[in-house]
Formats: sequence, structure tokens, C-alpha cells
Amino acid sequence: MKIAVIAHDGMKAEMVGFLRENEDKLVGAELVATGTTGSHAEKGGLKVHKFLSGPMGGDAQIATLVAEKKLDLVLFFRDPLGKHAHEPDIQMLMRLCDVHNIPLATNPAGAQLLLDGLYGKSK
Ligand code: PGA
Repeated sequence: MKIAVIAHDGMKAEMVGFLRENEDKLVGAELVATGTTGSHAEKGGLKVHKFLSGPMGGDAQIATLVAEKKLDLVLFFRDPLGKHAHEPDIQMLMRLCDVHNIPLATNPAGAQLLLDGLYGKSK
């Protein structure tokens, strides 16, 4: 499984907590992330391949993987109350997930359901 993780600034701590809570399920998974999300995940003890920071093109890099069908899952913890300079890239990433039918969760509850569905509930 190759999984992309992206979190807007207001959701980064929640993303790291989510990844740590689900570490048992993610053991065999290859994680890729936008730059700053990836740095937070690394500080949380996770192994992750980092792309550029989202506003510098990281979402677009992940969108490319989606278009090439090189990702199995995208977990994107969005901050619905924030404004983002790279909104066009975010829309592109989500659109390409739909175009290529790649599972996408845009909040922690959806992400948990996806992981539980794939690996079973652990708690
Ligand atoms: P970041 O990008 O992880 O580099 O902050 C996330 C985003 O797309 O907003």
C-alpha cells in the first residue's frame, strides 16, 4: 500500500496523532507526504517520503502520482475554515482522485473508516 498524507496547518497535530494511533495498521505501508506534513510525521517517529511543501507544489506532485495510479489511498486532513493560496492545486488533487477512483478521505473520521475497512478495527 502506498498512502499519501497531507494536512493543512490547523490539522497537522491531528494527522500525526492519527498516524501514530494507526501505526500498527500502517506497518507495511509506504507513506508519502507534502513537505511540512511529512516533517511533522517524522518528528512523530514515522518514516515518510517528503515531497515539496503543499503551497510550493507538493499537492501537485501527489496529484501526479494519483494520475499515474501509483497511490492506493489519499488521506487529506483539510482545514475547512482556512484560506489556502494553493487552493487550485488542492482542487486538482481531489478531482484527480475522483477521475482515477482513488480512495480519498478529507477528515479524520473518514480516514479512520478507510483504514478500519482495509485492516480491521484494532480497538
Ligand atoms: P504542507 O502542505 O504539508 O507542506 O504544509 C499541506 C497543504 O497542501 O496545505
